[in-house]
Amino acid sequence: AKKLRLILGDQLNSRHHWFQKKERDVIYVLMEVMQEQQYVMHHVQKILAFFATMRNFAHQLKKLGHEVVYLSLDDADNQQSFDENLNNLIEKYHIGRFEYQLPDEYRLDEQLKTFCHKLEIDYGIADTEHFLTTRYEVRDFFGDKKSYLMESFYRSMRTRLGILMQGKDPVGDKWNFDHDNRKKYDGKVPLKKPVIYNHDVSALKTMIDKMGVKYFGNVDAEHFGWPLSRKEALQSLNYFCENLLPHFGTYEDAMLNEHISLFHSRLSFAQNIKMISPQEIVAAVLGEWDKRKDEISLAQVEGYIRQIIGWREFMRGVYWAKMPEFATLNFFRHKNKLPKWFWDGNTKMNCLNKCIGQSLDYAWAHHIQRLMVIGNFALLSGCHPDDVDEWYLGVYIDALQWVEITNTRGMSQFADGGIIASKPYVASAAYINKMSDYCKTCHYDYKKKHGDRACPFNSLYWNFFDRNADKLEHNPRIGMMYKTLQKFDKAELQKILEQAEVYLGMVDEL
Ligand code: FAD
Ligand code: SF4
Repeated sequence: AKKLRLILGDQLNSRHHWFQKKERDVIYVLMEVMQEQQYVMHHVQKILAFFATMRNFAHQLKKLGHEVVYLSLDDADNQQSFDENLNNLIEKYHIGRFEYQLPDEYRLDEQLKTFCHKLEIDYGIADTEHFLTTRYEVRDFFGDKKSYLMESFYRSMRTRLGILMQGKDPVGDKWNFDHDNRKKYDGKVPLKKPVIYNHDVSALKTMIDKMGVKYFGNVDAEHFGWPLSRKEALQSLNYFCENLLPHFGTYEDAMLNEHISLFHSRLSFAQNIKMISPQEIVAAVLGEWDKRKDEISLAQVEGYIRQIIGWREFMRGVYWAKMPEFATLNFFRHKNKLPKWFWDGNTKMNCLNKCIGQSLDYAWAHHIQRLMVIGNFALLSGCHPDDVDEWYLGVYIDALQWVEITNTRGMSQFADGGIIASKPYVASAAYINKMSDYCKTCHYDYKKKHGDRACPFNSLYWNFFDRNADKLEHNPRIGMMYKTLQKFDKAELQKILEQAEVYLGMVDEL
């Protein structure tokens, strides 16, 4: 009897052992299903990039001589859900055994487990052979600790993998070089264009329109720049190592009106669908550093490697340690709706206009734009974490729940009460002005806390601490904020808090 092997849309790992030899009795299946288009509304580029890459992947497998069934969204046989399609294929091809790779999403993991329990044929589960850690390694590492400290996990990863180590000690005698990094962009180093692959996805777009898929965001050739094959993913990795790595860390927190990505790698999509692996990225970065130690400082290399072997693996581990409860946490009991300009970028606040506008145009924004501009505003203005999650999960090209929800609900919204972050990531206009040129051309005045054209971030910032005193006052990392608050002139504080109330009452018009 034949074996049926399911490949999910984020499991396009051509180096997986499944594909290393031709097996005559194996049929691979990839499917575009409505089920996956509807659990949240996605950015149009995300749908197109997933479908196009899945199609390329199926094509490559066929070229290598594997037997592949590809169900496109408009295929007459497509029942639009994994279960129904799988049942049909099992019957059609007289399948005797079903196999799948561990899904990275809790929802799909549950669905496939339930599906298999009902199966009358034999089944098996394989690892995705992508991550550096197993699902429950982070949970076991921290045991029953209340909060998880990424830095200690990261150090253990460095030690275990022997990355940037001299014996037991870190290369350069420090584990973390953040202190040397994270500068404002000063124009000293010329910016490079982000790599954009000009793919024509118009036929695919016509197909999803015909099928009535609901989506948001924009797409055109100039903005649709995603690597859609392993070859292109490797090209992006090379481009990053040669051109961007030398300044990655220095400017990783900087933001500009006129440039969307500065020195960020934009490799998250290729990684999250497993076209390239963390090992390959680390090897390429270390290889580049080895060749150009005089040009590339350790701070750049360590900063980048920490994102890959630290943050990324850590977030995945937190996800498996804390789901499904994690998705229900709402520490501040926030309940506001997202302002309506989250869907069109149409706000007078220039930083949000640029960061959201860019997210809608490119399905991508860098970490600080997601955290310190968009997420910061959502948190200060008390948006419900469900709505915040839904938006982030929909809008970003790299958004898969395991890495989205941990960043959004955990790191950015502090809805987990401090499992991931030791304090809420909130900031007033002073931070945004320090790290960007957004404030220079803004309708609002970043220096003002109240009154005409006062920047909303300023009053909302103090309102946030004031309204959450019971929850935050005793946090050792923010206690000093409350000391500052107590020292405020009473009348001045009153004006700031009144200003915040006015803004909170008109967020859609800001
Ligand atoms: P670079 O800045 O070049 O970093 C390199 C790589 O490090 C990334 O490709 C990514 O794989 C990894 N990385 C860096 N930071 C993180 C992090 N915090 N968590 C996990 N991996 C990280 N990343 C996603 O992949 N998917 C998401 O849905 C997602 N949602 C986010 C939501 C919020 C509110 C925040 C604050 C961050 C989110 N991130 C998410 C993390 C980070 O912003 C993106 O990984 C990054 O912007 C992707 O662009 P890049 O490849 O150029 O990253
Ligand atoms: Fe954003 Fe305020 Fe600066 Fe305007 S002044 S760009 S709203 S931080």
